[in-house]
Amino acid sequence: MQEQKKNLLGLTEDELEAFFLELGHKKYRAKQLLQWMHQKYVVDFDLMSDFSKDLRNELSSIASVSLPEIISETSSSDGTVKWLFNSGVGQAIETVFIPESERGTLCISSQVGCALDCSFCATGYQGFNRNLSASEIIAQVCFANSLLPRRKNGLPAITNVVFMGMGEPLANYKNVLKALRILLSDNAYGLSKRRVTLSTSGIVPNLDSLGDDCNVSLAVSLHAPNDELRDKLVPINKIHPIAELLEACWAYAEKHSNRYITFEYVMIRDINDSVLQASELAKLLKNKPAKINLIPFNPFSDCDYQRSSSEQIKLFQAKLRELGVIVTIRKTRGDDIDAACGQLAGKVSNKVLVRLSEKKRRAVVL
Ligand code: SAH
Ligand code: SF4
Repeated sequence: MQEQKKNLLGLTEDELEAFFLELGHKKYRAKQLLQWMHQKYVVDFDLMSDFSKDLRNELSSIASVSLPEIISETSSSDGTVKWLFNSGVGQAIETVFIPESERGTLCISSQVGCALDCSFCATGYQGFNRNLSASEIIAQVCFANSLLPRRKNGLPAITNVVFMGMGEPLANYKNVLKALRILLSDNAYGLSKRRVTLSTSGIVPNLDSLGDDCNVSLAVSLHAPNDELRDKLVPINKIHPIAELLEACWAYAEKHSNRYITFEYVMIRDINDSVLQASELAKLLKNKPAKINLIPFNPFSDCDYQRSSSEQIKLFQAKLRELGVIVTIRKTRGDDIDAACGQLAGKVSNKVLVRLSEKKRRAVVL
């Protein structure tokens, strides 16, 4: 059987330096290769003109720079673009580009499905197949940047990256951390930590590690002001309840000059959207480095929840403001192509863990 070639796309600068040193080459080759892959989007060794013919041949014989196959591209009337990538037989993940005048945000996936089973989320409903590799995560950025036209100022289309696609990024910690390092590396995407946001439903031990390893901007999916309700909406809460999660959040913020954390709160009619619940929420977050982002619930088939009315969302927002909490409402983008928050489903077959029992869920995420 032919040995599979090493895919270099998901290697960090340190890993690439080690790779070249082991082959007996100078370590600055790592920097050159990063620039080819992530700044010029060149994946064919033969086109890497500052590598000698011998080096190109050597690389081709043992390694590759592979991007996943694209299954489809769909564009929304509001300019949002969604891609479906092949992640193996019967599996597919989704990536969404959201253009705005001042920035271009890419929403990327970290897993094929998700095991955490939040009751309002299409990805959770799909179940879980596997973690994406670092190459598969970073390939979404490389691919999108190579396809999208540059901005007017000549810079790449993607100015911001958010881990808000399919999957729970902190449940795939090792690979997500590598992808983060590549996003921040000056020789690759060179994004600042402010422009990279990881969204998590709250896997506390890995949140603590992230604070030490790579303090990118943090968004936390809170969605309920008390444990009783959060247990139902975000089942990981039964393992890491609100008090434990918030303690980890304040520690994260404190390590990084009290940078604000965004708390995501999906607005579901008659479930978590009362003014009383807004007051309860304000008590948790008041006088803390926190801002709330209200996300109108995005419906998907098989889910009975309904979106809160815009009047109710405004009342909820007003109460939070009155109680001194910073709060914004997320604009819904791409819902005509099922690309809005929580609508990404991709394709998940051979689910290894669907509707996990608590014990199993703990095994998967820790
Ligand atoms: N697993 C991570 C990141 C992916 S989900 C997390 O849960 O944070 C990205 C965001 O979309 C989360 O805030 C999530 O709660 C929200 N979301 C999920 N389903 C949604 C839906 N149907 N409508 C609106 N937002 C949803
Ligand atoms: Fe997973 Fe996030 Fe969806 Fe929950 S909201 S099921 S953690 S992707």
